[in-house]
Amino acid sequence: NNIVVAIDGYSSCGKSTLAKALAKKLHFIYVDSGAMYRAVALYFLRNNIDLTNHEQIADALNNIHLNFHSRDYKTHITLNDEEVSDEIRQMHVADKVSTIAAIHEVRVAMVKQQQRMGKSKNIIMDGRDIGTVVFPNAQVKLFMTADPKIRAERRYKELLPTNPEITLEEIFDNLAHRDYQDTTRKESPLTRAEDAIILDNTDLSPDEQLLFALSHIEP
Ligand code: C5P
Repeated sequence: NNIVVAIDGYSSCGKSTLAKALAKKLHFIYVDSGAMYRAVALYFLRNNIDLTNHEQIADALNNIHLNFHSRDYKTHITLNDEEVSDEIRQMHVADKVSTIAAIHEVRVAMVKQQQRMGKSKNIIMDGRDIGTVVFPNAQVKLFMTADPKIRAERRYKELLPTNPEITLEEIFDNLAHRDYQDTTRKESPLTRAEDAIILDNTDLSPDEQLLFALSHIEP
């Protein structure tokens, strides 16, 4: 049987950094489920989809084709064959993604695709509902958290080189807003699966986090 590692947690608390390191070490496939919601949000924004119009939403979802391809363990995602990996990280997408990710039809479509990806391969998937909804039977579940100020600072350092006008305050507010939306939405709210191991990485280096996670994966 294939192995699934589910990593959930708040925005920007190092899920993808750890997931990539684990995937590299274990030779598993890494799937960034947040990138899928971001790509859907980008499509909705570009096409001015009316979020109250269920027919428009269904049509849009039928027209969205997402694909991952992995190079150097970086996430490369295409939206209808266009590489959108950088654009989905921009603030205009970050500002809207949690609203769009709360839409029922969007979640159904993404969960279906995610479950297909984990059917036969060893994978590590990170997101908000991976251990609770997408793979409730995942062999290993981690729930990550970190001090909100530290999270904002880390994300700021990451985004600054390509977004010189960005401010720390703007990022802090975006993370707080997304965490609020993600934990309070009706469908699949962000919550720790009962059997998930908590990893607070406020004071942990990437190597320490990797060792911690490996100790729970390898017998
Ligand atoms: O992981 P990332 O921060 O890129 O995710 C962007 C947004 O996508 C989250 O704030 C959340 O609203 C949504 N998301 C989700 N379920 C997932 C992954 C992401 O609702 N499994």
